[in-house]
Amino acid sequence: NARAALRSRQWQYQIRAHRAERERAEQALRDAGRRKDEFLATLAHELRNPLAPISNAAYLMGRVKKEGTVQSAREIIERQVWHLARLVEDLLDVSRISTGKIDLRIGRVDLADVVRNAVETSQPLIDRRRHQLEVHVPADRTLIDIDGTRIAQVIANLLNNAAKYTPRGGSIWRSVSREADHVTIRARDSGIGIAPDLLDSIFDMFVQADTRLEREIGGLGIGLTLVKHFVEMHGGTVRATSDGPGRGSEFVVTLPVVARPPLQPEESSDPARAAGGRGLRVLVVDDNRDSADSMSSLLRTFGNEVAVANSGAEALEQLTEYVPEVVLLDIGMPGMNGYEVARRIRADPRVKNVLLIAITGWGQVSDRMLSREAGFDQHMVKPVNIDTLLSVMHARGNVE
Ligand code: ADP
Repeated sequence: NARAALRSRQWQYQIRAHRAERERAEQALRDAGRRKDEFLATLAHELRNPLAPISNAAYLMGRVKKEGTVQSAREIIERQVWHLARLVEDLLDVSRISTGKIDLRIGRVDLADVVRNAVETSQPLIDRRRHQLEVHVPADRTLIDIDGTRIAQVIANLLNNAAKYTPRGGSIWRSVSREADHVTIRARDSGIGIAPDLLDSIFDMFVQADTRLEREIGGLGIGLTLVKHFVEMHGGTVRATSDGPGRGSEFVVTLPVVARPPLQPEESSDPARAAGGRGLRVLVVDDNRDSADSMSSLLRTFGNEVAVANSGAEALEQLTEYVPEVVLLDIGMPGMNGYEVARRIRADPRVKNVLLIAITGWGQVSDRMLSREAGFDQHMVKPVNIDTLLSVMHARGNVE
């Protein structure tokens, strides 16, 4: 009997343990669902924010012809489009992280250049919020094998946060120091600070100290997740410290310095060459008429001769008469997509040597591989940087 009682107690214990486990799992699911709902609300809000000024500025440009007004409307559009593009890039990075599709492109770079790039990215926000920025980098070159683009993104994210979470007119300090086996990058600000219980969790996806939609400065709550991920992919660490709300914050990134044989320096293109290049004959193919028309006006402004097609079939038809030096081809078009158009161009002896550039919303490694297989020379993700595009076009134009 004593044994039966013991077994019954064991059963009861196991049932309670199961029940507790199930409750925990259910709670975790509910939390995940709630975070997803919050995130979607934040996302809609953050995407809508830049749309309002873009729409206002475009309206103004149509009605007010004064040069100053047009100029400032244009600047608003540029700034907001850049902001939207960054949101989308961050979102894509998060999805690449969760599917394990991020590859580092390690090359030997001077850390001072990486910091300079990051500062350039964040400077407009720092200036708009009238902060003082102090940067300390070692006087000697600090050559290090990293993915310069990703580490610049890390530093820019930290600087942007420092600018966002510091009331106007604050101070931001950024420093880089080199020890024997690692470098340390610090970003400190005089801002709103971080509560001690949030210091670890702010690196988690979608976690924000202030989730009110009416807060002054927004974001998607993924910047620090990307920071942590990119740093850890380099074998480094990142941690946050703060003396508490209102007392500023500091983020410290360390990256190991790995002794390796010298690598080839990364190739760099020279956008300055682009502006001086000669005009080229270009065919722009995009089913989105606004995209095609704005791109062709832009290219004409830079002295190129431009024809436009709004479908794959139309492009092929135009190519029977017009022989361009460059074709800018959208990929996702109804009817015949860009890959098919590219394959047909490469198979046509009259035009097969054109410079073929994919301009597309798809930027994954697999998309780039598909476009290379279809015969594209270059793959650029919308919205393309016009300086880069021009220098790519002219680099080829000058060689021939
Ligand atoms: P986002 O800035 O888009 O909200 P992040 O992942 O970059 O997302 O940051 C997560 C949260 O961490 C922010 O919402 C903010 O509450 C807090 N945070 C980040 N950087 C700072 C900082 N420098 N000072 C104070 N709080 C910060």
